[in-house]
Amino acid sequence: MLTTNPFDDDKLREECGVFGIWNADAAASFVALGLHALQHRGQEAAGISSMDAAGFHSHRAAGHVAGTFDKDEVIRALPGRTAIGHVRYSTTGSSAMRNVQPLFAELADGGFAVAHNGNISNAMKLRRTLNRRGSIFQSTSDTEVIIHLVATSHHTQMLDRIVDALNQVEGAYSLLMLTEAGLIACRDPLGIRPLVMGRIGDSVIFASETVALDVIGAHYERDVGPGEMVLVNGDGVRSFRPFVSASPRPCIFEHVYFSRPDSVVDGTSVYESRKNIGAELARESPVEADIVVPVPDSGVPAAIGFSQASGIPFELGIIRSHYVGRTFIQPSQEVRHLGVKLKHNANSALIRGKKVVLIDDSIVRGTTSVKIVQMMRDAGAAEVHMRIASPPTRHSCFYGVDTPERAKLLAAQMDVAAMAKYINADSLAFISIDGLYRALGDSRNPAVPQRCDACFTGDYPTRLTDLTDKEMAQSALRVVASR
Ligand code: AMP
Repeated sequence: MLTTNPFDDDKLREECGVFGIWNADAAASFVALGLHALQHRGQEAAGISSMDAAGFHSHRAAGHVAGTFDKDEVIRALPGRTAIGHVRYSTTGSSAMRNVQPLFAELADGGFAVAHNGNISNAMKLRRTLNRRGSIFQSTSDTEVIIHLVATSHHTQMLDRIVDALNQVEGAYSLLMLTEAGLIACRDPLGIRPLVMGRIGDSVIFASETVALDVIGAHYERDVGPGEMVLVNGDGVRSFRPFVSASPRPCIFEHVYFSRPDSVVDGTSVYESRKNIGAELARESPVEADIVVPVPDSGVPAAIGFSQASGIPFELGIIRSHYVGRTFIQPSQEVRHLGVKLKHNANSALIRGKKVVLIDDSIVRGTTSVKIVQMMRDAGAAEVHMRIASPPTRHSCFYGVDTPERAKLLAAQMDVAAMAKYINADSLAFISIDGLYRALGDSRNPAVPQRCDACFTGDYPTRLTDLTDKEMAQSALRVVASR
């Protein structure tokens, strides 16, 4: 995320995916493929940094991976057997290119490239301190704080410098770092954002999701553990646990929406989880209806689960155009509305006269639901019921998933009955937080939290240092600082 006030608005948020490979011919071309599989995690910009005997090489550009990294000349300009890459979603602006990752700096002990998925929740405070000490920042990215902390560390070894830097950082980070000491992968002690390790032949790979391993034919070896640092170089693969250990709190929203359904996250198939969520939702909030219709694509697996558990037939009542990006990705509210219309169309011949249960993964601002319910009514639906495969999103994420400021979250403004009215549905229900945990194979125990579910519960697993007291009060945050 960017180091403007994280509470202010939704303009400067970002979501990201990372991919890195050690010891492969034309490493950058593998990274391009891996990033392509992670495109859903960030669609506005992409970058790759590679390393060979001559040093570091980087290419970063706005737009999709395919538009930039499908060009031979771009890949050829990224030589070397080791490379890392990053996809990112953030709004474009005059300064946006400075923030496109991997970020790179020439440090006293050599080049340092870093790709970050997550968000540092004390970045502004650290930045102010570093600024006062003379650090000159090139970007507004929180990730650059890590570079300056590494650069100014008193330790002599690169690994120690990185550990020293990360010990000062709060929040979520799944990091890939390219240094002369080797390729380094690291996940914050709470393991908020995912990071997996795989292999193909003699190459070692790190990626945000397993789908990026699949795409290059690599096999999944294991997750990089919460608080683990893995160094890969000519001496092999070495694992370190340099941080004070904490109980892991992986993000629950990866299962609900963010990860691709063909990925395995925290050892669980995302597709299976989403189907289980749909089945649990059908048990918790049954409804009499003729057809179950997913809001494509994000609602599809949950709708299959809902249909199987309820016995109500699954039908494709909404057809999605695959030539438009995620609705949410459009930066302004006006364009976002337009995006919904462009993206979805009712299958009117099917809908006419039917009682429809619509399934979507989440309601954020309510934009999609309002449009889709209206679309069903325009297509002649007899009744429109909405079931949501997550609890109400009442709190902003400060750990790397784009959510608007709290005032723009529909569920933070009104209760479920009022939301049903607002979206003009005959009924509306969300899965309960306990039901969501059950669907993921857990039994929720708020006294011993197993996941980060702050977007639903407001229980943030780290301090939110960059928020002022007033903002904390306004947002009714309950912070459970576990480190
Ligand atoms: P909204 O229209 O604002 O209520 O947003 C809800 C829709 O956006 C749902 O259909 C979700 O699939 C999708 N969505 C939810 N969270 C996110 C996110 N963080 N980034 C992108 N899309 C999202």
